[in-house]
Amino acid sequence: MKVDIKLKEKELKDSGEITGIVFNFQQFSIQDGPGLRTTMFVKGCPLHCPWCSNPESIYPSYQIKVAPVNCCGCGECLKVCKSGALSHDENHRIVFDYAKCTHCLDCFYACQYKAIDGVGIRVTVKEAVSELLKDKPFYSNTGGGVTISGGEPLLQYEFVAEVFGELKKNGVHTALDTTGYAKWNVVKKVTKDVDLVLYDIKHLDSKKHQEILGVKNEVILENLNKLAGKTDIWLRVPLVRGFNDDLAMADNIVELGRKVQAKKVYFLPMHRWGEHKYCGLGYENNYAQLIDFNEEELEKWKDHFKSISDYVIFGKA
Ligand code: SF4
Ligand code: SF4
Ligand code: SF4
Repeated sequence: MKVDIKLKEKELKDSGEITGIVFNFQQFSIQDGPGLRTTMFVKGCPLHCPWCSNPESIYPSYQIKVAPVNCCGCGECLKVCKSGALSHDENHRIVFDYAKCTHCLDCFYACQYKAIDGVGIRVTVKEAVSELLKDKPFYSNTGGGVTISGGEPLLQYEFVAEVFGELKKNGVHTALDTTGYAKWNVVKKVTKDVDLVLYDIKHLDSKKHQEILGVKNEVILENLNKLAGKTDIWLRVPLVRGFNDDLAMADNIVELGRKVQAKKVYFLPMHRWGEHKYCGLGYENNYAQLIDFNEEELEKWKDHFKSISDYVIFGKA
């Protein structure tokens, strides 16, 4: 049976409880901090990275995702969509136009063939914490814990801060995966119960940052400086060919890492794990404009950091 996303939204919005919109609880994660972790992914992001591997995180509320491969062409969804966002191709498979969608979810309820899914659901702090504590024995045995990622968790700061607070009461190691793009008061509130911040640095030049990602980077760098010494920090740099593949800038980021007392600096060459998601969300596939590094280029980067490999990690989170 389908979860009634809209009913839950209505009930919880009227309840007065602190809630958040979540789109995934990923167990046994080894990419988002030390040890085995559960990562809770929340919706909403102010940045628009063309290489985003979680494009379902960007829209701040629930939305639909279509899987044309499951579509039998029954046409039930077309009958309920009032905005003209759905059509059929020549093989009677569903085609989705995000620009016209009002996120009403009517087609999700109409489809009986798992060709339309709902992404994101509102949950209470209690529900989130109960889910996150399920794997507590694994956290204790592996030095792991819980990471909250997104999207940008700072957008849902009240909910995220409450969840971190409850996890700390339960003795769980907590990590925040963030772009740092928020007011300092928000960063301060959320990081109060955070053991480790995975802090993204994508480019040091604010103009370039804005041109490609949609926002300037000053507030990100200011917040990072203010966080120094208050919690453990790992800097994480998604390395993207033609955007930030600049050794001199990389050296400056390593220098910045030392200045803010980051424990590690990670350079993570762009991957295409999220590429298949774009079509189902009705988004343009931005990966088409991106070019992967070749082996020779990757070797050059590895060589560059060889002498400081205890501090800079290249190629894995
Ligand atoms: S969610 Fe979007 S595509 Fe589906 S019925 Fe509503 S407007 Fe149409
Ligand atoms: S209701 Fe589902 S199976 Fe029927 S046309 Fe729409 S997407 Fe395809
Ligand atoms: S900051 Fe992260 S979640 Fe937001 S668009 Fe960029 S890659 Fe995606």
